[in-house]
Amino acid sequence: MNSFCPVAWPEDPTPENMKNCEECGLYKQGTRMVWGEGNPNAPIMIVLDNPGARENREGQPYVCGTRETLQRAIHEVGLYPDDVYATYILKRRPIRAYDKEQTRRICMQTHLDGQLQKQIPSFVLCLGNVAVQHFFQNPDVDVKSLRGEFHHVNGFLTAVAYHPLAVRRRPNLYRLFIEDLQLIASEITKK
Ligand code: SF4
Repeated sequence: MNSFCPVAWPEDPTPENMKNCEECGLYKQGTRMVWGEGNPNAPIMIVLDNPGARENREGQPYVCGTRETLQRAIHEVGLYPDDVYATYILKRRPIRAYDKEQTRRICMQTHLDGQLQKQIPSFVLCLGNVAVQHFFQNPDVDVKSLRGEFHHVNGFLTAVAYHPLAVRRRPNLYRLFIEDLQLIASEITKK
């Protein structure tokens, strides 16, 4: 296996007609939209809660810890960066308090739903309880209860795993994280 080296995945630019979205009001916090990262034609669409910073304080591109852990696990299960595309329930990173439920619902309906219909990934992988509960549209489910198998959600074969940030904080979750990525990796290699 090649050695692992984290690299910034290419950003998928926000479509021109969406760039100035003010649908939910979160634009007032001043963070820019990040539409997605990675290969838009990838078989796996990863859904996270919201984008992390892609640039450091000096404005230089960097790979944050969340992305590094995700990339490391992807590498470890034998997937390639081209196999994945990462996007978010919220396309802007919140930096202050906001109405979480309403904002996530609006952003998802405005952007993620259309993105899914356009890209039609073979698999969706939701990372973390926020992504899971909103994607499954069920506030009572969580990663713990759904992980380890596929689910059919709105026509998409969907798996779930812990958020890479949680995995960084609790290294004992890394083994489960790998298992969940392996679930998808083994299906991809069958194709
Ligand atoms: S969070 Fe989503 S819906 Fe709200 S302004 Fe940003 S892009 Fe639009």
